[in-house]
Amino acid sequence: MSDLKDLYREVILDHNRSPRNFGRIENADRVVNGVNPLCGDKMTLYLKLAGDQIADARFEGTGCAISVASSSLMTERIRGATVGDTLKLFTAVRDMLTGATEPDEGMQKLAALAGVRDYPSRVKCASLAWHALKSALTDGTVSISTE
Ligand code: ZN
Repeated sequence: MSDLKDLYREVILDHNRSPRNFGRIENADRVVNGVNPLCGDKMTLYLKLAGDQIADARFEGTGCAISVASSSLMTERIRGATVGDTLKLFTAVRDMLTGATEPDEGMQKLAALAGVRDYPSRVKCASLAWHALKSALTDGTVSISTE
């Protein structure tokens, strides 16, 4: 289990150091600003849609290592996915972060985020990007807050 925790930590540090898909999308179809006042994390999610597919996903923002890594891992995972599969993934990640479910193989690298379950104040850091994603795909809300 400690090997697994080291692996998780490595993934988080890597994605914080070199965030994937960092930047804005000009002419994005969806733009959502998310804040986590508890920690001070801020992120803006940009989505470009092509029919029922997420053609591109990028983000900008500042925050702690977990919030940045979560945004990076999320955008990496959802690019090219369908909206339906992405909403299912949102639910699966939410359940994993709250401890309702254990990370399974389908989570792949996202399983690294499960490490926050031991630190309740960090769950919001990890879930910020995902709540922005859900808003972007469902109600089109332009601002969300974890509080
Ligand atoms: Zn944070």
